[in-house]
Amino acid sequence: MSDLLTVENLGKTFTSRRFLSLRPDYQVTALRDVSFTVAKGETVGVVGESGCGKSTLARCVLDLIAPTTGAVRFDGTDLTTLASAEKRAMRGRIQMVFQDPYSSLNSKRSIGRTLAEPLYVHKGIRYRDALPRVREVLGEVGMPASAVDKYPHEFSGGQRQRIAIARALILEPDLIIADEAVSALDVSVQAQVLLLMRRIQQERGLSYLFITHDLGVLRNFCDRVLVMYLGRVVESGPVGDLLERPRHPYTRSLRDAAPVPDVSKRRALALLEGEIPSPANPPSGCPFHPRCPRATAICSQEAPVLADIEDTGRRVACHNPEE
Ligand code: SF4
Repeated sequence: MSDLLTVENLGKTFTSRRFLSLRPDYQVTALRDVSFTVAKGETVGVVGESGCGKSTLARCVLDLIAPTTGAVRFDGTDLTTLASAEKRAMRGRIQMVFQDPYSSLNSKRSIGRTLAEPLYVHKGIRYRDALPRVREVLGEVGMPASAVDKYPHEFSGGQRQRIAIARALILEPDLIIADEAVSALDVSVQAQVLLLMRRIQQERGLSYLFITHDLGVLRNFCDRVLVMYLGRVVESGPVGDLLERPRHPYTRSLRDAAPVPDVSKRRALALLEGEIPSPANPPSGCPFHPRCPRATAICSQEAPVLADIEDTGRRVACHNPEE
Protein backbone atom coordinates (compact mmCIF):
# COMPACT_ATOMS: atom_id res chain seq x y z
CA MET A 1 0.00 0.00 0.00
CA SER A 2 1.35 3.46 -0.86
CA ASP A 3 1.24 6.25 1.72
CA LEU A 4 -1.59 8.77 1.46
CA LEU A 5 -0.72 10.82 4.54
CA THR A 6 2.78 11.42 5.89
CA VAL A 7 3.21 13.41 9.09
CA GLU A 8 6.81 14.41 9.80
CA ASN A 9 8.12 15.75 13.10
CA LEU A 10 4.89 17.61 13.80
CA GLY A 11 4.94 19.96 16.77
CA LYS A 12 2.41 22.40 18.18
CA THR A 13 3.05 24.89 20.97
CA PHE A 14 0.34 27.22 22.22
CA THR A 15 1.27 30.48 23.93
CA SER A 16 -1.03 31.53 26.73
CA ARG A 17 -1.07 35.22 27.45
CA ARG A 18 -1.64 36.47 30.99
CA PHE A 19 -3.74 39.59 30.91
CA LEU A 20 -3.63 42.06 33.79
CA SER A 21 -0.64 40.24 35.29
CA LEU A 22 3.06 41.01 35.49
CA ARG A 23 3.90 37.32 35.23
CA PRO A 24 5.29 36.28 31.82
CA ASP A 25 3.25 34.44 29.16
CA TYR A 26 3.61 30.67 29.30
CA GLN A 27 3.77 28.03 26.63
CA VAL A 28 2.07 24.66 26.36
CA THR A 29 3.52 22.08 23.99
CA ALA A 30 0.56 19.97 22.87
CA LEU A 31 2.45 17.98 20.21
CA ARG A 32 6.14 17.13 20.07
CA ASP A 33 7.94 15.53 17.15
CA VAL A 34 5.03 13.35 15.96
CA SER A 35 5.73 11.28 12.82
CA PHE A 36 3.61 8.57 11.17
CA THR A 37 2.05 7.53 7.89
CA VAL A 38 -1.41 6.39 6.77
CA ALA A 39 -1.51 4.22 3.64
CA LYS A 40 -4.32 4.20 1.07
CA GLY A 41 -7.18 2.07 2.39
CA GLU A 42 -5.62 1.80 5.86
CA THR A 43 -7.11 2.63 9.26
CA VAL A 44 -4.67 4.05 11.78
CA GLY A 45 -5.93 4.44 15.33
CA VAL A 46 -4.73 7.07 17.81
CA VAL A 47 -5.19 6.26 21.49
CA GLY A 48 -4.25 7.89 24.79
CA GLU A 49 -5.72 9.63 27.83
CA SER A 50 -7.48 13.00 27.63
CA GLY A 51 -4.94 15.76 27.10
CA CYS A 52 -2.43 13.54 25.27
CA GLY A 53 -2.68 15.61 22.07
CA LYS A 54 -4.95 13.35 19.95
CA SER A 55 -7.40 16.08 18.98
CA THR A 56 -4.66 18.69 18.42
CA LEU A 57 -3.03 16.19 16.06
CA ALA A 58 -6.31 15.79 14.13
CA ARG A 59 -6.75 19.55 13.85
CA CYS A 60 -3.19 20.05 12.61
CA VAL A 61 -3.62 17.35 9.95
CA LEU A 62 -6.87 18.99 8.87
CA ASP A 63 -5.17 22.41 8.94
CA LEU A 64 -7.75 23.79 11.37
CA ILE A 65 -4.74 24.95 13.40
CA ALA A 66 -1.25 25.60 12.06
CA PRO A 67 1.52 23.37 13.42
CA THR A 68 4.54 25.10 14.98
CA THR A 69 7.03 22.70 13.39
CA GLY A 70 7.06 19.80 10.95
CA ALA A 71 5.17 18.90 7.80
CA VAL A 72 1.89 17.24 6.79
CA ARG A 73 2.16 15.66 3.34
CA PHE A 74 -1.05 14.53 1.68
CA ASP A 75 -0.67 12.52 -1.51
CA GLY A 76 2.86 13.92 -1.85
CA THR A 77 1.95 17.60 -1.28
CA ASP A 78 3.07 19.47 1.85
CA LEU A 79 -0.15 21.06 3.14
CA THR A 80 1.73 23.44 5.43
CA THR A 81 3.28 25.28 2.46
CA LEU A 82 0.19 25.61 0.21
CA ALA A 83 -1.52 28.91 -0.61
CA SER A 84 -5.07 29.18 0.74
CA ALA A 85 -6.87 28.41 -2.58
CA GLU A 86 -4.81 25.24 -3.08
CA LYS A 87 -5.35 24.35 0.56
CA ARG A 88 -9.10 24.59 0.14
CA ALA A 89 -9.01 22.26 -2.87
CA MET A 90 -6.93 19.76 -0.92
CA ARG A 91 -9.17 20.11 2.14
CA GLY A 92 -12.06 18.59 0.18
CA ARG A 93 -10.08 15.35 0.11
CA ILE A 94 -9.70 15.24 3.90
CA GLN A 95 -12.88 15.32 5.96
CA MET A 96 -13.67 15.01 9.65
CA VAL A 97 -16.37 13.31 11.69
CA PHE A 98 -16.73 14.65 15.24
CA GLN A 99 -17.79 12.96 18.46
CA ASP A 100 -21.08 14.78 18.98
CA PRO A 101 -23.19 14.80 15.81
CA TYR A 102 -25.82 17.01 17.44
CA SER A 103 -23.48 19.93 18.02
CA SER A 104 -21.59 19.37 14.76
CA LEU A 105 -24.83 19.66 12.72
CA ASN A 106 -26.53 23.06 12.50
CA SER A 107 -29.86 22.63 14.31
CA LYS A 108 -31.48 25.46 12.28
CA ARG A 109 -30.50 24.06 8.90
CA SER A 110 -32.26 21.17 7.11
CA ILE A 111 -30.24 18.01 6.47
CA GLY A 112 -30.43 18.71 2.72
CA ARG A 113 -28.93 22.20 3.14
CA THR A 114 -26.24 20.87 5.53
CA LEU A 115 -25.15 18.15 3.10
CA ALA A 116 -25.30 20.44 0.07
CA GLU A 117 -23.16 23.17 1.65
CA PRO A 118 -19.73 21.54 1.00
CA LEU A 119 -20.69 21.09 -2.67
CA TYR A 120 -21.39 24.82 -2.93
CA VAL A 121 -18.28 25.90 -0.99
CA HIS A 122 -15.85 23.62 -2.84
CA LYS A 123 -17.48 23.27 -6.27
CA GLY A 124 -19.98 26.14 -6.60
CA ILE A 125 -22.89 23.66 -7.05
CA ARG A 126 -26.21 25.26 -6.11
CA TYR A 127 -28.73 23.56 -3.79
CA ARG A 128 -31.18 22.45 -6.47
CA ASP A 129 -28.41 20.87 -8.55
CA ALA A 130 -26.82 19.29 -5.48
CA LEU A 131 -29.99 17.49 -4.36
CA PRO A 132 -29.54 14.29 -6.45
CA ARG A 133 -26.05 13.82 -4.97
CA VAL A 134 -27.36 14.60 -1.46
CA ARG A 135 -30.05 11.92 -1.80
CA GLU A 136 -27.51 9.46 -3.18
CA VAL A 137 -25.10 9.92 -0.27
CA LEU A 138 -27.96 9.63 2.25
CA GLY A 139 -28.76 6.25 0.67
CA GLU A 140 -25.12 5.20 1.02
CA VAL A 141 -25.29 5.69 4.79
CA GLY A 142 -28.66 3.95 5.11
CA MET A 143 -30.82 7.06 5.49
CA PRO A 144 -34.04 7.71 3.50
CA ALA A 145 -34.10 10.43 0.84
CA SER A 146 -36.93 12.09 2.83
CA ALA A 147 -34.30 13.12 5.44
CA VAL A 148 -33.43 16.01 3.12
CA ASP A 149 -36.28 18.17 4.44
CA LYS A 150 -35.88 17.27 8.11
CA TYR A 151 -33.78 18.81 10.91
CA PRO A 152 -31.17 17.24 13.25
CA HIS A 153 -33.53 17.08 16.28
CA GLU A 154 -35.85 14.72 14.34
CA PHE A 155 -33.21 11.95 14.35
CA SER A 156 -31.65 9.63 16.93
CA GLY A 157 -27.95 9.87 17.88
CA GLY A 158 -27.00 7.01 15.56
CA GLN A 159 -28.94 8.53 12.65
CA ARG A 160 -27.32 11.92 13.26
CA GLN A 161 -23.87 10.28 13.14
CA ARG A 162 -24.84 8.62 9.84
CA ILE A 163 -25.77 12.08 8.55
CA ALA A 164 -22.43 13.45 9.78
CA ILE A 165 -20.68 10.63 7.89
CA ALA A 166 -22.77 11.49 4.78
CA ARG A 167 -21.58 15.11 5.06
CA ALA A 168 -17.98 13.87 5.25
CA LEU A 169 -18.51 11.64 2.20
CA ILE A 170 -20.25 14.09 -0.09
CA LEU A 171 -16.99 15.48 -1.51
CA GLU A 172 -15.65 11.95 -2.05
CA PRO A 173 -12.64 12.34 0.26
CA ASP A 174 -9.64 10.02 0.38
CA LEU A 175 -9.11 10.39 4.14
CA ILE A 176 -11.59 10.74 6.98
CA ILE A 177 -10.42 11.79 10.43
CA ALA A 178 -12.85 10.38 12.98
CA ASP A 179 -12.42 12.08 16.36
CA GLU A 180 -14.13 9.82 18.94
CA ALA A 181 -16.82 9.35 16.26
CA VAL A 182 -18.64 6.49 17.99
CA SER A 183 -17.84 7.27 21.64
CA ALA A 184 -21.15 9.00 22.35
CA LEU A 185 -23.28 6.19 20.87
CA ASP A 186 -24.88 3.17 22.57
CA VAL A 187 -22.90 -0.03 22.06
CA SER A 188 -25.36 -1.57 19.54
CA VAL A 189 -25.53 1.66 17.53
CA GLN A 190 -21.74 1.94 17.75
CA ALA A 191 -21.39 -1.45 16.07
CA GLN A 192 -23.78 -0.44 13.26
CA VAL A 193 -21.90 2.81 12.58
CA LEU A 194 -18.53 0.99 12.60
CA LEU A 195 -19.88 -1.60 10.14
CA LEU A 196 -21.12 1.22 7.94
CA MET A 197 -17.70 2.92 8.05
CA ARG A 198 -15.98 -0.36 7.23
CA ARG A 199 -18.31 -1.03 4.26
CA ILE A 200 -17.77 2.47 2.89
CA GLN A 201 -14.01 2.00 3.26
CA GLN A 202 -14.10 -1.24 1.29
CA GLU A 203 -16.26 0.28 -1.45
CA ARG A 204 -14.25 3.48 -1.83
CA GLY A 205 -10.72 2.53 -0.70
CA LEU A 206 -10.90 5.25 1.97
CA SER A 207 -8.31 5.74 4.70
CA TYR A 208 -9.23 6.59 8.29
CA LEU A 209 -7.32 8.31 11.07
CA PHE A 210 -9.40 7.01 13.94
CA ILE A 211 -9.09 8.71 17.33
CA THR A 212 -10.52 6.79 20.24
CA HIS A 213 -10.04 5.99 23.89
CA ASP A 214 -11.85 2.64 23.53
CA LEU A 215 -9.40 -0.24 23.10
CA GLY A 216 -12.19 -2.66 22.08
CA VAL A 217 -13.15 -0.40 19.18
CA LEU A 218 -9.48 0.10 18.36
CA ARG A 219 -8.81 -3.64 18.24
CA ASN A 220 -11.78 -4.37 15.98
CA PHE A 221 -11.59 -1.42 13.63
CA CYS A 222 -7.95 -0.37 13.16
CA ASP A 223 -4.99 -1.86 11.28
CA ARG A 224 -2.25 0.04 13.11
CA VAL A 225 -2.18 2.21 16.21
CA LEU A 226 -0.27 5.16 17.63
CA VAL A 227 -0.20 5.37 21.43
CA MET A 228 0.20 8.98 22.59
CA TYR A 229 1.28 10.36 25.94
CA LEU A 230 1.68 14.06 26.70
CA GLY A 231 1.92 15.08 23.05
CA ARG A 232 4.34 12.35 21.91
CA VAL A 233 3.94 9.00 20.21
CA VAL A 234 5.33 6.49 22.72
CA GLU A 235 4.53 3.29 20.83
CA SER A 236 3.18 2.30 17.42
CA GLY A 237 2.59 -0.84 15.39
CA PRO A 238 0.00 -3.35 14.10
CA VAL A 239 -2.93 -3.21 16.50
CA GLY A 240 -3.28 -6.95 17.33
CA ASP A 241 0.40 -7.48 18.07
CA LEU A 242 0.73 -4.23 20.00
CA LEU A 243 -2.21 -4.93 22.30
CA GLU A 244 -1.18 -8.57 22.75
CA ARG A 245 2.44 -7.74 23.62
CA PRO A 246 2.75 -4.08 24.61
CA ARG A 247 6.37 -2.98 24.99
CA HIS A 248 5.80 0.45 26.52
CA PRO A 249 4.67 0.45 30.18
CA TYR A 250 2.02 3.09 29.38
CA THR A 251 0.50 0.92 26.61
CA ARG A 252 0.45 -2.02 28.97
CA SER A 253 -1.36 0.03 31.62
CA LEU A 254 -3.95 1.19 29.10
CA ARG A 255 -4.42 -2.36 27.85
CA ASP A 256 -4.76 -3.80 31.34
CA ALA A 257 -7.23 -1.12 32.42
CA ALA A 258 -9.65 -2.04 29.60
CA PRO A 259 -12.58 -4.22 30.71
CA VAL A 260 -12.40 -7.92 29.73
CA PRO A 261 -15.73 -9.80 29.24
CA ASP A 262 -14.32 -13.13 30.47
CA VAL A 263 -13.14 -12.55 34.07
CA SER A 264 -11.07 -15.77 33.98
CA LYS A 265 -8.94 -14.11 31.30
CA ARG A 266 -8.43 -10.93 33.29
CA ARG A 267 -4.76 -10.00 33.37
CA ALA A 268 -2.63 -9.10 36.34
CA LEU A 269 -3.34 -5.40 36.33
CA ALA A 270 -0.66 -2.77 35.92
CA LEU A 271 -2.99 0.10 36.67
CA LEU A 272 -1.77 3.65 36.36
CA GLU A 273 -1.48 5.83 39.41
CA GLY A 274 -1.62 9.60 39.39
CA GLU A 275 -2.86 12.03 36.81
CA ILE A 276 -1.40 12.85 33.42
CA PRO A 277 1.02 15.77 34.11
CA SER A 278 0.25 19.26 32.83
CA PRO A 279 1.65 19.86 29.33
CA ALA A 280 2.53 23.38 30.60
CA ASN A 281 5.00 21.82 33.03
CA PRO A 282 6.00 18.36 31.73
CA PRO A 283 8.37 16.15 33.74
CA SER A 284 12.03 16.05 32.68
CA GLY A 285 13.38 13.11 30.67
CA CYS A 286 10.70 10.56 29.85
CA PRO A 287 7.37 12.35 30.54
CA PHE A 288 5.90 9.09 31.87
CA HIS A 289 8.56 8.54 34.55
CA PRO A 290 6.57 9.85 37.59
CA ARG A 291 3.92 7.16 36.91
CA CYS A 292 6.07 4.37 35.49
CA PRO A 293 6.63 1.09 37.39
CA ARG A 294 9.80 0.38 35.31
CA ALA A 295 11.47 3.78 35.71
CA THR A 296 15.21 3.84 36.41
CA ALA A 297 17.65 6.72 36.98
CA ILE A 298 18.11 7.54 33.30
CA CYS A 299 14.34 7.96 32.81
CA SER A 300 14.16 11.29 34.65
CA GLN A 301 17.23 12.64 32.83
CA GLU A 302 16.93 11.62 29.18
CA ALA A 303 13.87 11.48 26.94
CA PRO A 304 13.77 8.16 25.06
CA VAL A 305 13.61 8.25 21.26
CA LEU A 306 10.91 6.41 19.29
CA ALA A 307 12.91 3.59 17.71
CA ASP A 308 12.15 0.57 15.51
CA ILE A 309 11.87 -2.83 17.17
CA GLU A 310 13.80 -5.00 14.73
CA ASP A 311 11.65 -5.89 11.67
CA THR A 312 8.32 -6.06 13.49
CA GLY A 313 6.79 -2.87 12.06
CA ARG A 314 6.66 -1.66 15.65
CA ARG A 315 8.29 1.31 17.36
CA VAL A 316 8.69 2.19 21.03
CA ALA A 317 10.10 5.12 23.00
CA CYS A 318 11.36 3.59 26.25
CA HIS A 319 14.72 3.03 27.98
CA ASN A 320 13.45 -0.20 29.59
CA PRO A 321 10.80 -1.67 27.27
CA GLU A 322 8.83 -4.73 28.36
CA GLU A 323 10.02 -8.06 26.92
FE1 SF4 B 1 9.15 4.03 32.04
FE2 SF4 B 1 11.67 4.80 31.72
FE3 SF4 B 1 10.38 3.59 29.74
FE4 SF4 B 1 9.72 6.07 30.44
S1 SF4 B 1 11.67 5.41 29.57
S2 SF4 B 1 8.32 4.42 30.01
S3 SF4 B 1 9.99 5.98 32.63
S4 SF4 B 1 10.92 2.71 31.72
